[in-house]
Amino acid sequence: MSTERLDAFMARANAAYYATHDPFADFTTAPEITQVFGEVLGLWAAVTWQMLGSPSPVMLIEAGPGRGTLMADALRAISRAMPAFRAALSVHLIETSPRLRAVQARAVPDAVWHDDLASVPAGPMVLLANEFFDALPIRQFVKQAAGWTERFVGAAGFEEHPCDEPLPADAPEGAIQERCEPALGFIRALASRFAAAPGAALFLDYGPEHSGFGDSLQALAGGKPADPLDAPGTADLTAHVDFAALAAAARAEGAAVHGPVPQGLFLAALGLFQRANRLAMHLPPAQAAAVMDAARRLGEPNRMGRLFKALAISSTGCPALPGLEA
Ligand code: SAH
Repeated sequence: MSTERLDAFMARANAAYYATHDPFADFTTAPEITQVFGEVLGLWAAVTWQMLGSPSPVMLIEAGPGRGTLMADALRAISRAMPAFRAALSVHLIETSPRLRAVQARAVPDAVWHDDLASVPAGPMVLLANEFFDALPIRQFVKQAAGWTERFVGAAGFEEHPCDEPLPADAPEGAIQERCEPALGFIRALASRFAAAPGAALFLDYGPEHSGFGDSLQALAGGKPADPLDAPGTADLTAHVDFAALAAAARAEGAAVHGPVPQGLFLAALGLFQRANRLAMHLPPAQAAAVMDAARRLGEPNRMGRLFKALAISSTGCPALPGLEA
């Protein structure tokens, strides 16, 4: 194997992984834990659409839709709560894995698929993405006594190569700075679309609120932590999402930024627990307990409620979005 920059390695490894594996055998995600997650995000999209002035037609887009569960649950809730939004919207899914596209087609038959944002038509939109950015390739820079280096992957493992990127000079030796260029590019492209037509995008992912130094590259294979460099394509590689960097990129392009707030507070404000309760009321005791526990798993700070964050960006002039009020 030739030497590759870390982001090229991660892109290649994940493309191979998502093309050949059922990622949900290795990890689970919020929409797979409870239907209530997709339902409240559908209601968020509906209220946000109204705040954007109820543009019609409008695109409801999901980036990295996995099994299509979130979108199917969202559409069901939208049909009930806001039929006018359901009537105005067309569904677009941004997905690179042919394998997952086939799974998504069963859950959301009337969707239009795209490889990336570039082929999504211009126009008003509401976009949702759960655990999308964490799968996108990162670069890593390492501070040495002599200055910053960049991490590559060679036959013998990590290699540090000289680099001349503008990075903070006062970082301590050994500090690692990560950068997810595809995520920054995605945010900038959305922000410029939101200047031309009403739009908003919601991202839920795991990562700290403030940028800092540290190595967050992780690999999961068969549900267990693995060495990220072992057998590329057999493990899911992820990194923490740098919400502060994404918010700054959106602001620099003129978009409004809402949040980030911890996922637990966001979902509680949207009524996650009330909806779970209402669902549980009609179920036998064991199933009712499972529904309530699933909601708590997403919301409680010591489970997914604090490490995961919600961040939205929108056209300027849009009022504070649901669950993300300062
Ligand atoms: N949102 C889903 C799935 C998360 S897994 C859930 O919460 O269950 C990440 C998803 O992003 C998968 O669908 C994967 O195939 C997709 N993906 C990964 N890299 C991508 C890329 N560069 N462009 C589009 N989709 C991508």
